Amino acid sequence: MIVMKFGGTSVGSAERIRALGDRVRERLSRRPVVVVSALSRVTDLLIRGANLALERDPACDALVHDLLDRHRAVVHELFPAGPLREGLVARLETVVSELRTLYSGVHALEELTPRSLDAISGMGERLSCEIAAEALAAAGIPARAVDARTVLVTDESFGRAVPLMDDTAARVSRTVRPLVTSGTVPVLGGFIGATRNGVATTLGRGGSDWSAALLGATLPAEEIQIWTDVDGMMTVDPRVVPGARVIPEVSFDEAAELAYFGAKVLHPATIRPAVEQGIPVLVLNSLNPASSGTRIVGRAPDDVPGEPRAIAFKKGITVLLISQPRMLMAYGFVARVFEAFDRHRTSVDLIATSEVSISLTVDDPEHVPAIQADLAGLGEVRIMPGMAIVSVVGRGFIRQPGLAGRIFQALRDVNVLMISFGASDVNISFVVAEGAAEPAVRLLHQELFEGGRG
Ligand code: ADP
Ligand code: ASP
Ligand code: MG
Repeated sequence: MIVMKFGGTSVGSAERIRALGDRVRERLSRRPVVVVSALSRVTDLLIRGANLALERDPACDALVHDLLDRHRAVVHELFPAGPLREGLVARLETVVSELRTLYSGVHALEELTPRSLDAISGMGERLSCEIAAEALAAAGIPARAVDARTVLVTDESFGRAVPLMDDTAARVSRTVRPLVTSGTVPVLGGFIGATRNGVATTLGRGGSDWSAALLGATLPAEEIQIWTDVDGMMTVDPRVVPGARVIPEVSFDEAAELAYFGAKVLHPATIRPAVEQGIPVLVLNSLNPASSGTRIVGRAPDDVPGEPRAIAFKKGITVLLISQPRMLMAYGFVARVFEAFDRHRTSVDLIATSEVSISLTVDDPEHVPAIQADLAGLGEVRIMPGMAIVSVVGRGFIRQPGLAGRIFQALRDVNVLMISFGASDVNISFVVAEGAAEPAVRLLHQELFEGGRG
């Protein structure tokens, strides 16, 4: 069994959905389970609609119209007129009328709870899953849509739900595995699940990769394939640096680090369920199946020389700088600083300390004002929003002399505010202002992957 996950762009048009069918057909003998994202940009649209409904903006109606039109157009291009097409369109209309009801509720109550938002934002996957399953069937592949809300069981943390593995595994054996065994390809929407009581939840943005990994871990699958719109995990986001190169193989540690520090090609949580089961993950290009993509393997061999593998960056970072000349090294100071973050359930990414100050970064600014208030008694607190973390990820950095020198030489004209290096031996990260992130990434890529500035 393998899991094949197709991202938004890989189901974004009739042509792409046909290509999806080709990729699945080529692998039928490996007994695939298919996971699809919503059509590209649909999740953004659903969330925008929810906010329009909340503001009682009449543009919400037009948005629902456009959404249905977009899906209908894809269906009309994929299937000839007839009962099959009509049946599919009717099923899509049922989902969209449920969406209208939810928007009306938001409008009427002038309230958008995380719970309603999950029911709304997950509708894209319900629509794409119906279309993809029907397209496979029409291409002669025995396939069936399975409502992921009946399979992926999560807790009630709406917007960022955490899967309950035992319950999910039980549902997978009851509903998904028998289909595969009987020669049918189950097609599930990614990103969505439901609580034990059946209330719709989502796994957080980009969560379809996580769905694929969870299914892969519970089936269990021999391989998880993440089909996307680039040739694999690359040395840097190819949208920022056209000279980006595919990385043929990365270790789970490196991939997790890259994903965490902003290489959006893979959701950070994807890696864990797969690594726990020792299941390889492949990142592949649905438009360029000839490319061999990136293979994510359990462990890098120990004997490889230390080398940088890729550069990632993440914007929207806030830096907190707490200065207290007298108290910093006093026993318990750092613990009290962290208690404030713990109380407000905010995780810290990077930390740097000096004799008189401690700097921390967070990527979720929601509780920063409350944390600032809590820390006020400990010293002077400065908040710097609009920052970015740039990370060079690789292996065995400590064993490679001169690498840090090359990195900072390349960045000699960039104002670096904070540096973190050494914790894991797989990444060196630093903070720059958001506007400096892309130039810094280009300079670094040139130095580390394109033979320097010449
Ligand atoms: P999907 O819809 O298939 O889930 P995503 O948009 O989530 O696709 O992820 C693919 C995108 O990730 C690419 O189009 C690329 O711009 C971006 N990306 C960022 N960093 C990297 C990287 N290091 N390697 C490859 N792609 C990257
Ligand atoms: N459709 C969801 C999103 O856009 C999940 C995903 O694509 O992975 O975030
Ligand atoms: Mg994605």
